[in-house]
Amino acid sequence: MSLMEQIYKTVILERSRTPRHRGTLADPAVRQEGVNPSCGDELTLALRIEDGVVRDAKFEGHGCAISAASADLMADALHGKTTAEARTLATAFKAMIRGEPLPTDLDLGELTALEGVRHLHARVKCATLPWTTLEAALDGATGPVSDESAG
Ligand code: ZN
Repeated sequence: MSLMEQIYKTVILERSRTPRHRGTLADPAVRQEGVNPSCGDELTLALRIEDGVVRDAKFEGHGCAISAASADLMADALHGKTTAEARTLATAFKAMIRGEPLPTDLDLGELTALEGVRHLHARVKCATLPWTTLEAALDGATGPVSDESAG
């Protein structure tokens, strides 16, 4: 089995085919669009944040299996996290996907299912798109964001 097949096989396929957090949230919610032009992935992330804690997260849009699975796993991981914890998670996830040392000894849990994407350089931005979108949402960005300048 090729590396690509192994990566696609398990969590990514399941999450992209039957996402648990696809949809949108009633207002008031924080909404942020993200795009990955190199693959054509587009997503809109909706967050319900109360007292600095992420109470719910959903996403809509269309993209490849890796971006969809990453968004769905991210939504899972965000539940009950403070915004500070969410930022730390985003930093750690991106480090993992880019093959960089993790900034903390944080347990990434089920997110490690995407670790193999680090070997697929063309797909790294697919996996990081939801997290870049999350960071922009927490920063109160206006307008869509992409990873193109972040490298
Ligand atoms: Zn993609």
